[in-house]
Amino acid sequence: MPTSAPTLMRLKQSLPLLWLNPTRSTAVAAQEVGHALATTGSESPAESQYISLADIEAARSRFERFAPLLAKLFPELAASGGVIESALSPAPAVASLLGMAPGQGRVLIKQDHALPVAGSIKARGGLHEVLEFAERVAIANGLLPSQPSAADYVALLSERAREVFARHSVAVGSTGNLGLSIGVIASALGFKASVHMSADAKAWKKDRLRQRGVEVVEHAGDYAQAVAQGRAQAVTDPLAHFVDDERSLSLFLGYAAAVFGLRRQLAEQGIVVDAQHPLFVYLPCGVGGAPAGIAFGIRQILGPHAHCFFAEPVQSPCVLVQMMDGSDGPQGPHPTVYDYGLHNRTEADGLAVPQASRLASAAMREVLGGIYTVEDGQLMRFVYQLEQAEGLRVEPSATAGMAGPSMLLGTPEGQRYLQESGLQAHLAQSTHVVWTTGGLFVPPAQYQQFWEAGRDLLAQQP
Ligand SMILES: *Cc1c(COP(=O)(O)O)cnc(C)c1O
Repeated sequence: MPTSAPTLMRLKQSLPLLWLNPTRSTAVAAQEVGHALATTGSESPAESQYISLADIEAARSRFERFAPLLAKLFPELAASGGVIESALSPAPAVASLLGMAPGQGRVLIKQDHALPVAGSIKARGGLHEVLEFAERVAIANGLLPSQPSAADYVALLSERAREVFARHSVAVGSTGNLGLSIGVIASALGFKASVHMSADAKAWKKDRLRQRGVEVVEHAGDYAQAVAQGRAQAVTDPLAHFVDDERSLSLFLGYAAAVFGLRRQLAEQGIVVDAQHPLFVYLPCGVGGAPAGIAFGIRQILGPHAHCFFAEPVQSPCVLVQMMDGSDGPQGPHPTVYDYGLHNRTEADGLAVPQASRLASAAMREVLGGIYTVEDGQLMRFVYQLEQAEGLRVEPSATAGMAGPSMLLGTPEGQRYLQESGLQAHLAQSTHVVWTTGGLFVPPAQYQQFWEAGRDLLAQQP
């Protein structure tokens, strides 16, 4: 189904909009993503590779095996025994500031903005990929048995392990938060680490990495160019691993594993997800890997009565233009936001991506409910309001999910979605999860600027 003319018009005029995915189904099927995956060196793209629940379980097991080691590497993980998790907290004050009526469901916040080690949702995907690489290098070099158990992993702290890791390097292209995550875990394990950053990446993120001994390579162009140049440099080195944000399955599955924690937390709070108790999840979206990984995990683990929506800045709706296009095969179009006259400049630096991950769009065809866009001013107001209402300190990117309930409940498109999915009658028993995605390590002075900008914008409103 072609995208409607009014929606296209709003997209080009950089006005907030909600687009509904016409190919969503309710199947809990494995997804074919082979053409969209990263390949290493001579290997040719897999013709047909499916991902399913078993792959997400493998990622969870990897996190569990590494937990004792992580608890030793990062003091902030000692208390949790190496488990990296964020709270899922009721947020009634958010429901009222969004103007939600009592019959429209409850609001919870999934607080990935406070994830330890990386300070953002990237703690999930980024750590997982570096751990998987470390495991592979360790097994190949006899540091771990071929079927290791959790008790074996502390051996990776040994002098010999560090010598092996120091010969290997990990590289990544990033707007900031992925670089922070990869740089921190890679350098903690003893790998050489380099992060390729675009000009718009925040100075404090570069500083924080350099303090950890990570090499920061700055590129004049945008995020997509930083990734391309980082990738080109790494393929020439057999001991280098490039974390490819545009097509990495390991990143994707690391994010998806978050849903086991979400399922447990929902159950602990007595929240059921079924036809009479729908769940809505609102996820800030950059290149698409993090929200798509989580949405895929949600479909596999929580089923089709969970409805996922992505949030993109009005100037950077790259996954929207990719999914609108309808065809994401290997030869299909790969549009950028520039093609629609948008400029990709936004204060939401974690979401400032001009071209989508095809892995994300391929995995989302049957899964995603829709995508909405948010203006920068709105993100700033949410920064201020989240602090006032819930005492949460998040970065602008991380607030994009906050617009979700209003987009769903308060727009004609949102009403159409509720109607067509038969959800109107069940709203009172519904749960809205707003996923906050970054902010823990934002320097206080920088945070203060966002907060004041949001406060001033709110004061100007009639
Ligand atoms: C990276 C990031 C996202 C989105 O992840 P993608 O994989 O780029 O879509 C959302 N919020 C924050 C704060 C991020 O850093």
